[in-house]
This record gives sequence, C-alpha cells and structure tokens, in this order.
Amino acid sequence: MKIKIIGTESIGVRGLSCSVELKNRKIFIDPGIALGWSRYGFLPHPFQVAVGSEIRKTIVEELQTATDVIISHFDGDHCPLSDPNPYQLGISQIKDSLAKCRIWAKGLNNSPQTQQQRRKELTEILGKEIQNAEGLKAGPFEFSLPVPHGAKATKENMVMMSRIEENGMVFVHASDIQLSEEDTIDQILEWKPDIVLVSGPPLYRYTSASFQRLLEIAWENALKLSEKVNTLIIDHHLLRSEEGIKWLEKLKLHAKNTVCSAADFMGKQPIFLEAWRKELYEWLPVPENWHEDYEQGKTDFEQYRIRGWELLINNKKIKPCKWYDVCPIKAYTDAGKLERYWVENYCLVNNINCIRYQKEEKGEYHPDNMLPNGEIRESLQINF
Ligand code: SF4
Repeated sequence: MKIKIIGTESIGVRGLSCSVELKNRKIFIDPGIALGWSRYGFLPHPFQVAVGSEIRKTIVEELQTATDVIISHFDGDHCPLSDPNPYQLGISQIKDSLAKCRIWAKGLNNSPQTQQQRRKELTEILGKEIQNAEGLKAGPFEFSLPVPHGAKATKENMVMMSRIEENGMVFVHASDIQLSEEDTIDQILEWKPDIVLVSGPPLYRYTSASFQRLLEIAWENALKLSEKVNTLIIDHHLLRSEEGIKWLEKLKLHAKNTVCSAADFMGKQPIFLEAWRKELYEWLPVPENWHEDYEQGKTDFEQYRIRGWELLINNKKIKPCKWYDVCPIKAYTDAGKLERYWVENYCLVNNINCIRYQKEEKGEYHPDNMLPNGEIRESLQINF
C-alpha cells in the first residue's frame, strides 16, 4: 500500500486529498482543494495561489490513473465543483477521469443543502449515478455510517470515513471529524488501523475560554487514538494557525506512537501557508487589485512563486536540502530546462525521499540527469 498525501494544510492548501495505491487499484480520496477565502482579513496570497495551482495540477494528474474515487463529503475543499472559485478544483478539469472511475461517496442525507446540491451537480455533469457508500463493505473498502463534522455538528452536517485494507495493512481516512467525538474515535479503533489520516481540532476558531473543554476532549481523543495506532497523521483544520502547529508539536511529545503532520509523513518540511498568510503579505506586499486581475486573467503569480520560496528560506520557515546549492537539479531549474515542480517538492522542502539525496548520502554514483524520484530525464545533459 502506497499512501501519498497530496493537498492539505501542512503542504500549503486546504483539503485532505490523498492517493492510495494497492496492487490492482489506485484510489483517490477527496479530490478537492481550497485556500481559505479570507484569513486575518486577507485574501489568499499570490504565493499561496502558486502553490495551490501546482497541487491542483498534481490532483488532476493523479486522477488520470485512478480506478476508484472516494468523496468523504461535499465541502468545497473535498470535492470538485461545477462553479469553483479561482483557487478550487472544477469538475470540468477532471470529468473524463471521474467518468471512468468507480465513485464511492457520502450520500445525500445528513448533509447541508449546499453539499446536497454539489452532489447532484456532480451526478448530472458525469451523467451517472454516484453510489452512496455509507456503511458499505466492498473488496478492500469499508465505509462508515455518517459521523459528525466536528464538535456539536448537527445531524445535517456529517461526513463519511473510509477504511482500506491490503495484505494486513489498514489505512483509515477520517476527514473533518476534528477529533471531537469519542464514539467516532472508538469506531476508528474498531477498524484496527495501522495508519490514520485525520483532521485535527480547528484551534483558529477556538478563540475564547468557552472552547477549553472542546480542546481537552480533542487532546484526550488524540492520545487515545495514538495509543493503538502506529502512525497517526493529524492535519487539515488543526494546522491553519500557529496555535494548532504548537498543539501538534506538544502532542508528539506526549503520544505513545508516531504522531505527525501530512508533510512529516511525506518526508518533507511543512509549509503552513494559511497560518503564515499575514507574514506573507508583510514580506511580499500585493497590489490591491491583484485578485480581481488574476480572476480576469490579466496577471499571474509567477514572480510571487519564486520570491515566495526565497522569503520562506530567508525568514527561516524552511531550510532547503544541504546539497541544494551544488545540485544539478537546481542548475537545470535555474537555466529553465526543468519544471520547478522538482525543486519545490524535493529540494526546497528537504524531502528525504529524494533518490539523489539518498544516493549522495551513501556515496553512490548517480548521473546528473537523474530526477529526485529516480527517473532519468534523457533530454537533460548528462553532465551539467
Ligand atoms: S535533487 Fe535531491 S539531492 Fe539535489 S538538492 Fe534536491 S533534494 Fe537535495
């Protein structure tokens, strides 16, 4: 089982999208993305827009080879939309991929009106029925009945969790439960998972002392889960604020087993761009009409993309790979011969899964035109 977490808060966007590769299937869970329309009174920074655009591209590419798609619920950061804002994912971008996949989605009931409408629109655009997967067991899958979307959620605001098993390995995707209900935690534990990807509590909304009890419950539930689960990945709502980032760091120290963010799990340094939005605006000011111009196609984010990464380094938010300055991958990128995808997903976030890095550490030969994932790019000069 190969789990790849693609878009969530520690990776720079809102969502909880991931792919799970089994021997004969490739499952994509929650094909959606958002940037958070307004935080600290600011619209998404153009650097966030740049990172989001790359992640959206990755979602589109990953879906091309998917056999199954799971949709935990129809919030705009978890599903494709018929009328996306400029930072979300449109159904039109992935329609052909979805048409050939089996889709397992939360049903119409126990959902807010807007989510019911989105589900209907997806069904109409695809021209096929979308199965209500709640409570189903099929092949490697098991799906939960509706569970609350966070603390004090009404019965019209529920989500569906998924369990995937292969060769004794069990992965659970528990979107938006926010660790708020003990019953939901017990249900996850009944599934006996090895790895759980879950949304943590939204500390950015817990702004007064009245939320203290909710925080304590989430903490107790996180510890309870981590006692029985080898790897507990907590991300999404939790990591939209500095308080949430600190909460996770403290939990890591108290938990019995591994607790980490999605970026940690993927071997990369986190980029909490929503939590850092105010600082991004301070470091890299944005003209007042930028968002309007972007929406109308009159401007783009390219200058913010390169400068944004530089500023994260200069302000010690990230530390690039120790080989970065001498690595041919940087040289090819700077010369415009290689897509920036590689430096942004490996070098700048010090991704320990880089094959070049691993070979460098072992002192093993590797040609200059070997990409971080180990592929040889023949079009690049062998000796840069
Ligand atoms: S390609 Fe790999 S070794 Fe080279 S700088 Fe990037 S992460 Fe480091």
